Amino acid sequence: MTRPLVPENIRSLTPYPPGKPLKELERELGIASAIKLASNENAYGPSPRALEAMAAALAESHRYPESTVFYLRQRLARELGVAPGQLIFGNGSNEIIELLIRTFTGPALRSEPARGVLTAATTFVVYQLVSQAHGSPFKAVPMRPDLSLDLDAIAAAVDEETALIFLCNPNNPTGSTFDKASLERFLARVGPDPIVAIDEAYYEFLAPEARLDAIALIAHRPRTIVLRTFSKAYGLAGVRVGYGVSDPELVSYLDRVRQPFNVSLIGQAGAEAALDDADFLERVVANTRTGLASIAARLEALGCQPYPTEANFVLFDCHKDAAPLYEGLLRHGVIVRPMRGYGLPTFLRVNVGTPEENARFLSTFEAVLKGDA
Ligand SMILES: *Cc1c(COP(=O)(O)O)cnc(C)c1O
Repeated sequence: MTRPLVPENIRSLTPYPPGKPLKELERELGIASAIKLASNENAYGPSPRALEAMAAALAESHRYPESTVFYLRQRLARELGVAPGQLIFGNGSNEIIELLIRTFTGPALRSEPARGVLTAATTFVVYQLVSQAHGSPFKAVPMRPDLSLDLDAIAAAVDEETALIFLCNPNNPTGSTFDKASLERFLARVGPDPIVAIDEAYYEFLAPEARLDAIALIAHRPRTIVLRTFSKAYGLAGVRVGYGVSDPELVSYLDRVRQPFNVSLIGQAGAEAALDDADFLERVVANTRTGLASIAARLEALGCQPYPTEANFVLFDCHKDAAPLYEGLLRHGVIVRPMRGYGLPTFLRVNVGTPEENARFLSTFEAVLKGDA
């Protein structure tokens, strides 16, 4: 009898669903023009300045990257008005999520209780995947009926086991947000102990008046970390740069656990240059807002229910099984995100593309919905 190859928490893991690769779909369909609106990527590409910096960095690819992320750290600290020691960088903010779970949570040891993760039920699936992989207790609190985070219920669910709470704002996949008063009430209720990670992957898309300034909370509540990324509005998903802002002591523990060269040389160069292209960012955000409005209006006219969103994607209820609609879109080379895995079988999520991509999605969806495609 051989022993099981892996423990039960690994055996029962479902891998992250990456969305169908564009090239693969094109090959299957024998077409050359499939579009992907499934991963909330930036349809406008990286900023030309970032591209130029990355091209220059390519020639240095025989070198290890700067392990302390020196230049990007200085530049970003200046941008955010924080001390350089308050920043932790990752291979995407996904790596920081993983570092938080590995550093601050874990299975029960002989002398201590297990320390776990608490979050919302319909939120970024990576929190759950990494918790399970690490053997950490994981608890998810049901959403409000409008599919926004129920902060009161999450606060009420905090117990001895809770080491780390993830609040995603705007929330992926629902697009919902919470306001500063709700967050402050939440923090007062949970007290100073559990680490609260506020995942702001879509922060740049928020209208200025909808921004929480969560970073300002760190001074009063050091066990708070704000997660951001260069993958979405900055258009650098492929080179994997994310960051966290927190108290220097909390950062110092993450820094001990991370791998020494975790952020690539190309990514560091691209992110630093991207920060210098405010015009590009502004254009992306403006185009995203226009695109969202036109997508939501048309979906509504088609009898679907788009949920309010402050991000670069929209979740919508088709009021019938969405699987055939997803498949129909795929057959016409349009990739969106099915929501069955989130327990929302009548929903789809689509991100904003270029105006041409948005129009193509909408006309294809209409044809598929009416059953003549
Ligand atoms: C896209 C996304 C991230 C960022 O992922 P990266 O690893 O930085 O590419 C983090 N959190 C949420 C909720 C996201 O949707």
